[in-house]
Amino acid sequence: MRAGRVSVDIDSVVVGAGVVGLAVARALAMSGREVILVEAGEGIGVGISSRNSEVIHAGIYYPGGSLKAQLCVEGKQRLYAFCEERGVSHQRLGKLIVATDDAQRTALQGLLEQGRRNGVDDLQWLEASEARELEPALSCVAALWSPSTGIVDSHGLMLALQADAEAAGASLAFHTPLLSARCLEQGFELHMGGAEPMTLSCRELINCAGLSAPEVASRIAGLPAQYIPAARLCKGSYFSFSGRAPFRHLVYPAPESAGLGVHMTLDLGGQARFGPDVEWVDHLDYRVNPSRGDGFYQAIRRYWPGLPDGSLQPAYSGIRPKISGPNEPAADFLISGPTQHGVAGLVNLFGIESPGLTSSLALADRVLDTLAQ
Ligand SMILES: Cc1cc2nc3c(=O)[nH]c(=O)nc-3n(C[C@H](O)[C@H](O)[C@H](O)COP(=O)(O)OP(=O)(O)OC[C@H]3O[C@@H](n4cnc5c(N)ncnc54)[C@H](O)[C@@H]3O)c2cc1C
Repeated sequence: MRAGRVSVDIDSVVVGAGVVGLAVARALAMSGREVILVEAGEGIGVGISSRNSEVIHAGIYYPGGSLKAQLCVEGKQRLYAFCEERGVSHQRLGKLIVATDDAQRTALQGLLEQGRRNGVDDLQWLEASEARELEPALSCVAALWSPSTGIVDSHGLMLALQADAEAAGASLAFHTPLLSARCLEQGFELHMGGAEPMTLSCRELINCAGLSAPEVASRIAGLPAQYIPAARLCKGSYFSFSGRAPFRHLVYPAPESAGLGVHMTLDLGGQARFGPDVEWVDHLDYRVNPSRGDGFYQAIRRYWPGLPDGSLQPAYSGIRPKISGPNEPAADFLISGPTQHGVAGLVNLFGIESPGLTSSLALADRVLDTLAQ
């Protein structure tokens, strides 16, 4: 798309080409709208969507009735069906959540009940011996077995979403950051940067800018500041394991306050990695500090005492786009539409942390519903 300084009129502009923006652009285009997806970076998936565990979550952990619970359970089903239909690589590996002492056993019982309330109806309670039949190297007093948890090739998923969006007529503009926007009587005027700055006007504006969503929202003149949450950054580092993977299924400890605990996931090639841990930060820095490895050995040996010394290498990190701080209850996904802020045609997506990848297709449908209200 080469619009120079010309003003382009369009139905919908989506900001951010991560998995959520791509799913939203796809859904909008498939509903018959003219869509432009603008992305500050050089391509799709340059943000959080390429820095995560690539797990298709079952929907166990989240408070009943929350968007995270609803959209994860719905999104998981949609995602498996989409991957099968579109040939996106994925594996329904199943996962064990393990208790390593009696207090965690009680926590696990709570998770089982929570999961069932959320509609995850395939969870099974395993005693230690049953868990060890599945994973002989595991040390635990009990475990929850979640057969519907899996892994997905997140980049393959984004490519398939992009292909659908483009087939339905959406345009993608890379190197095109949204610099500022203004609410008009009807719709929005947008000022885009990049090599060829341009002005766009549109009827609908959907902010899927991930970590930058609060900042992007703050550049929309006419949106009251009270509807923009503060961004809280919570880094998670990963370490890769050099040997043969110790487990065939995903293994998670009982969850921690701001994350799900240092867990073991497998990539589609069967390579094990551990993480992410929890580190509250005030700026984006994706380097992994090797000294964080000490905490990893300690955490992993609680459920895998056989972890050899020196077998973990710093791998990569991701940053959770939180909207609640370290000592606050975890915030839900926030889909902030006209009913909240009063600006017709505007939807801001805030706090789309995990399980945002799993929920992406369901989130997109929810955005369309929000625009229709
Ligand atoms: C450590 C970690 C582990 C996770 N593990 C899982 C998991 O296993 N399973 C799961 O379901 N979820 C997981 N998640 C969550 C999941 O990765 C995210 O919810 C999801 O990727 C968010 O996608 P997004 O499109 O909202 O954001 P992003 O992928 O970050 O996309 C936002 C895009 O907006 C662009 N942008 C920013 N500002 C502008 C601007 N001004 N103009 C134009 N473009 C702009 C950015 O460049 C970026 O490309 C994890 C997250 C983290 C951090």
